[in-house]
Formats: sequence, C-alpha cells, structure tokens
Amino acid sequence: MSEKMRTLTEPFKIKVVEPLRVTTEEYRKKVLQEAGYNTFLLHSKDVFIDLLTDSGTGAMSDKQWAGIMVGDESYAGAKSWENLDAVVKELTGMPYVLPTHQGRAAERILYGILGGKGKVFISNTHFDTTRANIEFTGATAIDIINEEAEDTEVDLPFKGNIDIEKLEELIAQYGKENVAAIIITVTNNSSGGQPVSMANVEALRKVCNTHQIPMVIDGCRIAENAYFIKHREKGFENKTCQDIAKQMLRLGDAFVMSAKKDGMVNMGGLLTVKDEELSVKCKNLLIISEGFTTYGGLAGRDMEALAIGLTEVFDEDYLHYRIRSTAYLGEKLRAKGVPVVWPIGGHAVYIDAKKLYSHIPLHEYPGQALVCDLYIKGGIRTAEIGSLMFGKYDEQGKLIPATNELVRLAIPRRVYTQSHIDYVLDIFDDILELKNQKRGYRITYEPPFLRHFTARLEKID
Ligand SMILES: *Cc1c(COP(=O)(O)O)cnc(C)c1O
Repeated sequence: MSEKMRTLTEPFKIKVVEPLRVTTEEYRKKVLQEAGYNTFLLHSKDVFIDLLTDSGTGAMSDKQWAGIMVGDESYAGAKSWENLDAVVKELTGMPYVLPTHQGRAAERILYGILGGKGKVFISNTHFDTTRANIEFTGATAIDIINEEAEDTEVDLPFKGNIDIEKLEELIAQYGKENVAAIIITVTNNSSGGQPVSMANVEALRKVCNTHQIPMVIDGCRIAENAYFIKHREKGFENKTCQDIAKQMLRLGDAFVMSAKKDGMVNMGGLLTVKDEELSVKCKNLLIISEGFTTYGGLAGRDMEALAIGLTEVFDEDYLHYRIRSTAYLGEKLRAKGVPVVWPIGGHAVYIDAKKLYSHIPLHEYPGQALVCDLYIKGGIRTAEIGSLMFGKYDEQGKLIPATNELVRLAIPRRVYTQSHIDYVLDIFDDILELKNQKRGYRITYEPPFLRHFTARLEKID
C-alpha cells in the first residue's frame, strides 16, 4: 500500500505570502495559560503552524483569485452560478444543485426533510454536525464502522467502509420504512480520514435499491477518496481521480458537501439531489434560510472560485502531493516511535495519546496534554479528539473517558511546505525527550454542550 517515496515537491510556486510570527517558548507558555490551556481560545497571530483543521483553511490558486474578480453578483441567474451549476452537474450527474453557505446548511435542509421523530439514519460514521442536524429533527443517528477498522493499528486499505452485514441487520431491526436514509461519508472524517472503496458504495447501492431507502453521499473529501481508490482498489489504476469520483457520485440519490474541504475554498457548501419532488422541498427551505436558488448562501465570487476549485482539486499532481504529504508526516512520526492511527488517512494524522502519554491518567486528559506541549514547544496548534471532546461523567462525577485519546494534526490544503512539516517532526523529538516529566490537566470551567470549544483548564503540579 505504500506508494514509492521520493522527495516530495509541492506542485505549485508561491505568488503571495503571509508572514508567520516566530514567538518564544516563554511567550507561548504565558498566552496558553491565559487561554485556559485550550488551543481554540488562542489568537491565531500567536500560532506558528496551524494544524487545528483542514476546513476552510486552504489556499486558493491564482485562477481562483482571478475568478473572485469576475464573480457575477446578480441576485438571480448569475453567470457565476451557471458556471458552478454546470461543474457540479457534470461531477455528480445529479440534475438539481443547491448552493449553501457551508456543509451543515445543506445537512439542515436535507435531513430536516428526511428526518423527524421515529426515523433512523445509518452511516459509516456521522460527522458531528451531521449527527447534530439529524438529532435536532428528533431522529436517531447510528454509526456502523467495520469492526476490524476499530483497531487503530491494523493495516487495511479501506477502513472507512460501512459494514454491509450490520446494515442489513439494522434495517431488519428498525423496519425499512423507518430508515430515512443511509449516509456514506467519504472519506470517513471521524474515523481518521480513512477511505471508502467503490465496491463498498456499490454494495450499499444494492441494499438501498432492495429496500427503497435513499442513499446520501457526504462527499466533503470525494477527491481525496478517489485518489485512494486509484491506488488501492483493483481495476481503477488507469482511471483518473475525477472519473472515479464521478462514478461514485452517480451511485447516490443525494450529495452533500462542505466546500471548505475538497471544494478548495474558504467558505461554501453544496446539496444536490436526483429526485425532482425532493428538490422542490429542498429549494423551498433554501429560500427561507439561505437565499434564492441561484446563490443560496454564497456571493457570486464565491461560486466562481468554487467552480474552479472543484476542477483543480482533481489535478492528479495536486492529489498526489496532498495525500503523500499527509502520509509523509505520519510515516516519519511512526518511524520516530510516535504511535499514530494507521494507515494514514487523507487530510490528517492522528496520534494515539493514550499510548504516547501513557504515564498521564485518562482523567488528566493525556490528549490535551500533548496538544499543550506541541503548542508550547513549537507554536503548533492541534486539536484533541478524546475525553475533553467526548468525555462524560457518571453519577459520582467521575469521568467516563472516550474510546480513544487522539490528537489530530489536520493539514490545510496548499498552505504549508515540506520544511514546515519537517519542523513539526523536529518538535516531536523534543516531545519524545520530555514526555515522562509531564503531568496532565484538570477542567476549571466547562459549558453544558460541545465543551472542548470553550472549556478552560489548569495544569496539575
Ligand atoms: C466539515 C464536514 C461537515 C460540515 O461542513 P461545514 O462546512 O463545516 O458546515 C459535514 N460532514 C463532513 C464529513 C465534514 O468533514
């Protein structure tokens, strides 16, 4: 599975630069303490390498910036809308395209119509905004990832796949009339950016046909997924990534996308559907909350840049660089002895902090301790995906930890060079040297929901 490793060169040169500020460790200690040891509360000016998320943090190309200048801001029937509409129809094969301000707006519209009390949605893994929008309608969201993929170390090509056998069981259990939709998330964000195979989506199509259940593709990273199929699934070696994506999208009944990922723009979303009746209902909701059908939640210039981004993302050289540069970081970390989720996914490297910081008990948040150390040592901003994010309390107020204590290093698109990544690797040498001296953290403030965004912590001495 490991594609041959050569010196990785970025397939672009730099035309505009944004200076980065170098700060001292003393300064970073101070500002992190002021931020309650929560990296979401840092000022971005104090961050050197920002690996918090790959969402909306990418760099646009010169062509996209040129598109911004020619964006048509007409309320109805804008040329920029026609450009976007044509690109998305060609990509998805679906006749009805709705532009939204980001992915969750598309979700709110679609799942608001399909969902409701007593309904069930089944997915390989619902992304958190997907789950929230489904549960908001009163429906239930069930994840069924393959059992073997739950092992963070086993080397399998398509750990994002949905378990078809379990799916059949669930449909029988809940009754097909109660299953509102099956959502396949490609790549599977919440399970580490792991890809989904074409064979799996084809098998899913058959199940949906048999039971007459709509199939939704959450395709935020459809291009990255296509690259994995090209290099890992038999029969796709000679196809282009764009053709692979087109083939997959034609299997769906609807497609939702956060354009902040593979759309290569900083803001935007899409919803496309095959069924005319459903499209009318969706458009009615779009008009209420987003805007008229030919701009939704977007400015004309945003639609212009998105139309270009959706084409550029399938450039084979770009995709090779994208997937290999993420793998470069992950493979080098693993070679240093840092435990990482394996194999490396498309948009991020996940570190197993339970293993790396095994000396810190779970109720002292080992993942957050690593997040803090990476910031203090190197000005690197990352996110904890562990007990700070998902932990609950029992009746005695004792922490019920999350399944995993992961730290995510998400890679923005076309933003950092290999030397930035080499710098991150250097900082890990310091982390490995120091790790046994560290204690963990305790929470001093937390809100009732989504606590990781605004919680404050203090260091335990
Ligand atoms: C980011 C994301 C979303 C939500 O999109 P936003 O643009 O952040 O609203 C939905 N699904 C997946 C898989 C995502 O990665």
